[in-house]
Amino acid sequence: MPSRKFADGEVVMGRWPGSVLYYEVQVASYDDVAHLYTVKYKDGTELELKESDIRTLSSFKHRKSQSSSSSPSRRSSSRSRSRSRSPGRPAKGRRRSSSQSREHKEDKKKNVQETNLVPLKPSENNTRSYNGEPESTEQNDTSFTALEQKFKPDLDIDRVLEHYGLRPRKEEKKKEEIYSEKKIFETIKTEKAPPKTKELEFGGRIGTFLLIFFLPATVFYLLSMCKQDDPSILNFPPPLPALESLWETRVFGVFLLWFALQALFYLLPIGKVVEGLPLSSGKKLHYRINGFYAFMLTAAAIGALLYFQLELHYLYDHFMQFAVSAAVFSMGLSIFLYIRSLRAPEEELAPSGNSGYLIYDFFIGHELNPRIGSFDLKYFCELRPGLIGWVVINLAMLLAEMKIHNLSMPSLSMILVNCFQLLYVVDALWNEEAVLTTMDITHDGFGFMLAFGDLVWVPFVYSLQAFYLVGHPTSISWPVAVAITILNCVGYYIFRSANSQKNNFRRNPADPKLAYLKFIPTATGKGLLVTGWWGFVRHPNYLGDIIMALAWSLPCGFNHILPYFYVIYFICLLVHREARDEHHCKQKYGLAWEKYCQRVPYRIFPYIY
Ligand code: NDP
Repeated sequence: MPSRKFADGEVVMGRWPGSVLYYEVQVASYDDVAHLYTVKYKDGTELELKESDIRTLSSFKHRKSQSSSSSPSRRSSSRSRSRSRSPGRPAKGRRRSSSQSREHKEDKKKNVQETNLVPLKPSENNTRSYNGEPESTEQNDTSFTALEQKFKPDLDIDRVLEHYGLRPRKEEKKKEEIYSEKKIFETIKTEKAPPKTKELEFGGRIGTFLLIFFLPATVFYLLSMCKQDDPSILNFPPPLPALESLWETRVFGVFLLWFALQALFYLLPIGKVVEGLPLSSGKKLHYRINGFYAFMLTAAAIGALLYFQLELHYLYDHFMQFAVSAAVFSMGLSIFLYIRSLRAPEEELAPSGNSGYLIYDFFIGHELNPRIGSFDLKYFCELRPGLIGWVVINLAMLLAEMKIHNLSMPSLSMILVNCFQLLYVVDALWNEEAVLTTMDITHDGFGFMLAFGDLVWVPFVYSLQAFYLVGHPTSISWPVAVAITILNCVGYYIFRSANSQKNNFRRNPADPKLAYLKFIPTATGKGLLVTGWWGFVRHPNYLGDIIMALAWSLPCGFNHILPYFYVIYFICLLVHREARDEHHCKQKYGLAWEKYCQRVPYRIFPYIY
């Protein structure tokens, strides 16, 4: 007996989970162990189906042309039978009342109509039906109840789970839990290893190879320029320092000490432990949320060192050497990460860094969540040594400015830059849990890109304005300072409220506090917000972030473009990141994403982009 009936690539009719509706799908692969077919819907959605839920195209067409008794509605009546076994339904064998019978007939009729609404082949101007969802759900798409209704009548979740063999039936689950996004997510995600990365980003192998040199060179260039009396970009190239002056073992030792101190704070058993998003294997990792405590402990440690007359000025004097130490460390870390990733199980590799090309995977990160015991290297580096280090560097620059220019008070510009960026870092640490849903954690592996970004780029490039102000004092008036502060507050408000709105919605779409928000349901069970901030532009959080970036540069005046490097780079980064995210969302949500794009046409800047 053949172990499988349908071949890879075959176009067949696949039943939509929990419904009576069949859609044209293509068989992508077959799992011999679980006896499940991975099928791809027209909108790109992939699901795993049992053989009994797949029909050949011809038999389906044949059935459809027959009498109604052999049409899909017949399957709906068999579904009614199976439903009657559920506790809320009339006991099997009990005679229907006439009204029940009428209802049943109407039900049946509705099913016929519903089924007939679904074309077997997409016509050119009617691709809507092919988003892998019943037509009816697409229209009633703007409230939580729509999502609930979508799954409630047809998708008896437990039944579906049992039916599709995804996880054991859990009778004791509460209804709300069952309908929560988390559970719906579990019904669709199944245990499988991430596929090979086929679409290469960042210019592929050549692009990533060049970036490995270009990124450190840019940091080196920016810091060298900032040290110049005239940091004009026309003064290119800046004079090169003696090679031996770039390295000091003591500085490297201080850097290692800093890294170890942050690692120690991370390991402290304070703060709650939360679950991350489900991995492709179905597993969920646990993360300790104690970044803010680590920040407070660092602040206390720095306060104590200052009290004992430690010169933070040392950081300013050896700034380039610190950057070189961090770069050497991040390169060493990336090599270590790549080597250990070669032994990682297939299902623990990053979906974006599994191309099979050494340089590319080294750059993007081959392993998704490298851990030593429970120590998560990527999560730790993401918000601790670099981000907290950025604040310490800014403080060192503030003290250096006072010392070099003999000031009793730091300049207004320096105060603004320090305060704005402190707010940003504290916000990130306070909302540390939100990092677990970002692309960095869920999608990108831990390789050179993130190691260098977290440990070198963030602390040494993001502090450029403060570094610039030490060597190039800029005075601003109080009214200008107030205007810049208002700009920063506006940016922060948009950034924070947009991020919170999405995070809260992702965590609990049924939250009554979010009842005013409308969303489009998608085939994955997650909704896409179309009102509130996410109905304003498609990435309101990026908009807020960019406004803040501008507010951080403005205190440096208009003499040079160098302190504006951050905002220029940041716009490029977020435009590129937005395109990457858009691409992933299109793959994930198919037509629902296109519908969202139609409803919310602007990506980041309203009426511009
Ligand atoms: P986002 O927080 O913007 O998340 C994007 C994800 O949100 C999508 O993949 C999708 O994921 C979900 N989503 C998209 N549209 C909707 C919608 N309409 N309704 C509900 N969910 C939606 O991603 P980032 O990780 O890029 O950014 C996080 C924050 O970090 C931002 O504020 C950004 O500005 C900031 N950032 C800062 C950087 C810096 O260097 N300072 C660098 C990069 C980012 P899903 O549907 O799977 O949930």
